[in-house]
Amino acid sequence: MRNLARIKELLIDKCGGLMNCIQTLSKCKGPSGFSTSKVYEIIRPRAQKSFAFKFIWRGFVPPKYAFTTWLCLKGRLPTKDRLRFLAVDEKCSFCGKETENINHLFFTCDFSRQVWEEVRNGLGISRKTGSIKGAIKWAYRDARGSRLHSKIGPLAILCSVYHIWRTRNALIFEGTQAVASKTRTIIIYQVLRILYKIAPGGLRASVS
Ligand SMILES: [Zn+2]
Repeated sequence: MRNLARIKELLIDKCGGLMNCIQTLSKCKGPSGFSTSKVYEIIRPRAQKSFAFKFIWRGFVPPKYAFTTWLCLKGRLPTKDRLRFLAVDEKCSFCGKETENINHLFFTCDFSRQVWEEVRNGLGISRKTGSIKGAIKWAYRDARGSRLHSKIGPLAILCSVYHIWRTRNALIFEGTQAVASKTRTIIIYQVLRILYKIAPGGLRASVS
């Protein structure tokens, strides 16, 4: 449901208001009724030229990872600093010390720094970064080519953003304890699982 709310927000923004959005959606009809692919095309055009868009929305990337990272990059994830109108406590869900904004939550918080550090060590990634834009820039440069190894960096970023956000939400909404080593293990497992799906035989050579 939260994803649907974000898509709605994105559509209204792209169409230039709610009324324009309703009119545009009324034209999104395919041969068998309402066409989600036509809705996707509304979101797509202005971002099409962006290297970040091409980097994030790729065939081997699960949509949930791409979508969360895209919202993170655009500053659209509902971190606490964006929920001031609800008068919520703005302190970081993980450390409780700093204001929870995208940069702190994903990169400068002790929890996230530990997750990134352990993911980088686990997957043999040498580069460090302190922002989502920086991470995407270096991974985009390193990700050229078709070798399986070129997909490790991008997948590590996309998967880490998704699972850090998921860990944060589980902490808030389900009361689940946030443990960096647990989140790190899930991220590394998911990256390796996707790489294995892409090329079962090439995984050993790429991560060794
Ligand atoms: Zn924090």
